[in-house]
Amino acid sequence: MSVKVSRNIQMVDLVGQYEKVKTEIDSAIQEVITSSRFINGPSVKEFQADLEKYLGVKHVIPCANGTDALQIAMMALGLKQGDEVITANFTFAATVETIAFLGLVPVMVDVDPTTFNIDIKEIEKAITPKTKAIVPVHLFGQCADMEPILALAKKHNLFVIEDTAQAIGADYIFADGKKKKAGTIGNIGTTSFFPSKNLGAYGDAGALYTNDDALAKKCRMIVNHGQSTQYNYEILGVNSRLDSLQAAILKVKLKHLDSYAAARNKAASYYDHAFSPLSLDNRAKGEGWERSSGAGGEVKIKTPVRSKNSTHVFHQYTLTLNGVNRDKLKEHLASKEIPSMIYYPVPLHSQPAYKHPVNEKRTYPVTDKLCASVISLPMHTELDEETLKYITDSVLEFCNK
Ligand SMILES: *Cc1c(COP(=O)(O)O)cnc(C)c1O
Repeated sequence: MSVKVSRNIQMVDLVGQYEKVKTEIDSAIQEVITSSRFINGPSVKEFQADLEKYLGVKHVIPCANGTDALQIAMMALGLKQGDEVITANFTFAATVETIAFLGLVPVMVDVDPTTFNIDIKEIEKAITPKTKAIVPVHLFGQCADMEPILALAKKHNLFVIEDTAQAIGADYIFADGKKKKAGTIGNIGTTSFFPSKNLGAYGDAGALYTNDDALAKKCRMIVNHGQSTQYNYEILGVNSRLDSLQAAILKVKLKHLDSYAAARNKAASYYDHAFSPLSLDNRAKGEGWERSSGAGGEVKIKTPVRSKNSTHVFHQYTLTLNGVNRDKLKEHLASKEIPSMIYYPVPLHSQPAYKHPVNEKRTYPVTDKLCASVISLPMHTELDEETLKYITDSVLEFCNK
């Protein structure tokens, strides 16, 4: 039987996380208010420099949110109306929204059933003479397989824009063992500091990263109305700045990012272990639902598969269900005051806003299946064993019925 815990369980516990760094955060906020340099204050430059160092990238360009970051990246790369941009169908809407918003053509392709990340074979099939860029999304906290994506991009002369909103801090591991931080591998990377992201601000915030000096310069102009110098508008821009308060908060939290990732990994390992009696061996690859070891019985849950070429920062802990009624499981958990979420319930190609003839003849068997069978459990930095036990016991109780 699962024993109820006292703490209010949430998908993300931002208050618990804040309590641990309260003194530092409060004084950082106070400093900005006292200085009254709310826009482009020193905290923005300081956070930018700290993040450049952390990521090992030449340029970080702070901006107002992760959606803007994607839009600014595509503007800076000079993508033109009608250019085709290939991205994953199984992602948060912003990726596709920004492509469509700029009058580009979002060519959505299916994902890999084991990692949930964009399927390389599908990218290759979708390339046409109009293709100008690929936007891999590092979904749920681990990197898409960048090496073959870079090879395709090189062969077809395409830009690579990495949507790193869910995977800040993850390492991509190249075949030769070399590592690079997610978002610093392609031409440009974008991220979000939305409060529930792994490095969350206390409001909206985002950034772009690049090693390309000219591209960085262009992004810096675009975020600030396209100005090269004050009142000289060289290119079309937007107003998308990171405000000083958010930068001050992020600067404090960045110091803890690796320990946050470790806490998330610890919770993920607890989940994996607890679900192992019902689950596919975590190391087993392939879409099959057969057991990889000798144990009998039907496999009911697939725990997240760790890709061999990426570390995982567990933005989400997402199960794939097999023969388990998802709605009923969700209800069962809710009755025990355990929240759960469906990321993502509806494939983007079938959303009215993003319907495009280019995707009409395409099929998305993996995305369709995932949208119908995934469920994400509470995942954050403050999950203790008592809570994890209560959650996993409750899931197992339902699945073993
Ligand atoms: C959150 C997110 C975004 C958008 O970030 P915002 O800061 O909310 O605008 C873009 N892409 C992905 C994959 C995301 O998860």
